[in-house]
Amino acid sequence: EDHKRTVLVTGGAGFIGGNFVLETVGRFRVVNLDALTYAGNPETLASVSDDPDYAFVEGRIGDRELVGGLLAEHRPAAVVNFAAESHVDRSIDGPAVFVQTNVVETQGLLDAVLDHWRTLEGAERDAFRFLHVSTDEVYGTLGATGYFTEESPYRPNSPYSASKAASDHLVRAYHHTYGLPVLTTNCSNNYGSYHFPEKLIPLMILTALRGGPLPVYGDGRQVRDWLYVVDHCRAIERVLEGGVPGEVYNVGGHNERTNLEVVETVCALLDELVPDSPHAPHASLITFVEDRPGHDRRYAIDAGKIERELGWTPEETFESGMEKTVRWYLENREWCEGVLSRGYRQERLGLGGGR
Ligand code: NAD
Repeated sequence: EDHKRTVLVTGGAGFIGGNFVLETVGRFRVVNLDALTYAGNPETLASVSDDPDYAFVEGRIGDRELVGGLLAEHRPAAVVNFAAESHVDRSIDGPAVFVQTNVVETQGLLDAVLDHWRTLEGAERDAFRFLHVSTDEVYGTLGATGYFTEESPYRPNSPYSASKAASDHLVRAYHHTYGLPVLTTNCSNNYGSYHFPEKLIPLMILTALRGGPLPVYGDGRQVRDWLYVVDHCRAIERVLEGGVPGEVYNVGGHNERTNLEVVETVCALLDELVPDSPHAPHASLITFVEDRPGHDRRYAIDAGKIERELGWTPEETFESGMEKTVRWYLENREWCEGVLSRGYRQERLGLGGGR
């Protein structure tokens, strides 16, 4: 019991952080620091809320005093930073909060972590890690061929990806300047359970169930590389265990699909899993809407480094992961309704898209 390690997770009430907490509580003691913005859902964590290996703290990563106090109290073996503003469309409407959280507050978090790390000694200091969770969108867009590697130049195109790029650079700088043992992961599009209903896949599932139009941006031929969220969580754990401080690891699923193919897959699964639906065939609900400004054409990750060096490969195929996901949304309508009723900007439903 006493040798169980503690991990301070930030942003653990969000989509990926929530899945990470649910996957790891029990094996780790998890302290979850989350500001509960519109994207944070305590409902996601209901099943662990009474677990002695789980503690929730409401607060911001930029709160130096709070973070410093948590680090001193819990002495985590690692900090895993999921906290961010994460929705591309929202960053187009209002970039300022993205710079505040993803840049300014991430730097505040790094300062608090650095101060703490400097107080550690011996094995505790050697073992400590700060893992920063980031996105492949920092690399910009690809043509029809080629893949992003860890060597690809940063060419962020949206305010969201620009703010994530800035945070990645700060994390890198805290390693090179101060020696902080950081790890960075850049992952492709995630999908799976507990995904906020404004994102592409849950939006399409929930809208199709209501018989509403399924909005697809532009011609729907934008290509994304999709990874089942639990596979991403396993990759993060693998990097925590075996990653070399200062190194970057790209994480991806080798599942390139156009946005239209993704929506068609959702529709086909709903046809199969909800045979009595009055809206079948669900693909007839697809409508094309004006493209998002600056929409990146193609992202695709070369995950060769994490595969070779750390032995990680995804366990789900796109088909198996999507079936799990659609089933989960069908069985968890109360979670969706709870999320939608809490401060969610309803006017966004029907605009849709985005990750
Ligand atoms: P999310 O929006 O679902 O969750 C973000 C969480 O962070 C929320 O719980 C929110 O309340 C919290 N938060 C926001 N600002 C905070 C602050 N200042 N202090 C403390 N908590 C704060 O995001 P997600 O999709 O789970 O993404 C998590 C991380 O993974 C992000 O850094 C994102 O850039 C990255 N990422 C996401 C994807 C994807 O497909 N979703 C892919 C690659 C990387």
